[in-house]
Amino acid sequence: MSGPNTDYDPVEVTPLSAPEVEARRDEALAAIAAAADLAALKQVRIDHAGDRSPLASANREIGALPPQARKDAGQRVGQARAAVGQALAARQEVLEAEHEERMLVEETVDVTVPVDRAARGARHPITTGSEFIADVFVAMGWEVAEGPIVEAEWLNFDALNLGPDHPARTMQDTFWTEPADKHLVLRTHTSPVQARTMLTRTPPIYVVCPGRVFRTDEYDATHSPMFHQVEGLVVDEGITMAHLKGTLDHFATAMFGEGITTRFRPSYFPFTEPSAEVDLVCFVCRNVAGVVESCRTCRGEGWIEWGGCGVVNPRVFSACGVDPERYTGFAFGMGIDRTLMFRHGIEDLRSVFEGDVRFSTAFGSEI
Ligand SMILES: [Zn+2]
Repeated sequence: MSGPNTDYDPVEVTPLSAPEVEARRDEALAAIAAAADLAALKQVRIDHAGDRSPLASANREIGALPPQARKDAGQRVGQARAAVGQALAARQEVLEAEHEERMLVEETVDVTVPVDRAARGARHPITTGSEFIADVFVAMGWEVAEGPIVEAEWLNFDALNLGPDHPARTMQDTFWTEPADKHLVLRTHTSPVQARTMLTRTPPIYVVCPGRVFRTDEYDATHSPMFHQVEGLVVDEGITMAHLKGTLDHFATAMFGEGITTRFRPSYFPFTEPSAEVDLVCFVCRNVAGVVESCRTCRGEGWIEWGGCGVVNPRVFSACGVDPERYTGFAFGMGIDRTLMFRHGIEDLRSVFEGDVRFSTAFGSEI
């Protein structure tokens, strides 16, 4: 910066001459107009309006002018700087608007484009199958009952008329827990839930009990030491085997479709008398002559073994505190895994339990 100079003639001082100031202003305006984006405009601002810009330097020269010259020069430089400032502000606004618009276009998300997502998995078919079965009975006004997996020996056997000499009580079939004097087992069937229900409630009783059960079976294509059963129990006045038959026919129709009913074959279970094996009309060939012979699902039988059932043995009622003179009832039970296998043509029971997500996914959320 120069010091005061009384002989100074502003017209002769190049940086403050009118043409020079106008030229600097026009350069600045041209650069502003040419700035293509906000980054370029930022540089233009530094070059043409910053502390080291020609017009800022010229402004500083004004103070060195004789007083009579300051007004003209000040006005000239001030107007030029104001013009540059306004142009910068206007250009800034335009470029910001453009930037925003471009961002909106570039960052638009097309929500209809298919994307790769982590697989959500699927609920296990045993879970959805158990719920489907429970729903069939809940729709008839039944309740779902559950019990512990580690069960008292008495409830698993004695209460169900399975005396101490019954083969099911030998070590071959049952997982016993230690210490032995606690008399606890991994339940071998869901029937102790029935005993618990009768012991804690008064009839009428209409319950369905799906759950895990355990037996010391080998693990192969048709056996597993852990599997799933569903049992039903009804205790009421005037209950007969006809009610049992009607209930199972309805269950079969709900699971396998219209026209699929059941047949009973005489059998023996300690906890029911009379007892029957339940077969299901083959839901593939429907036991129709000409089709049944080549049916792979029922192997040409026309019927599929489904489970066991019977009228509740009065001795079970007595053990569980139900008056056998007043009440009758029926019970039935079938394997959920097995039902699932023949319903869906699953060849190997192990694929139900081995946790391969491709197996579960194939069933989706419904069996
Ligand atoms: Zn068939």
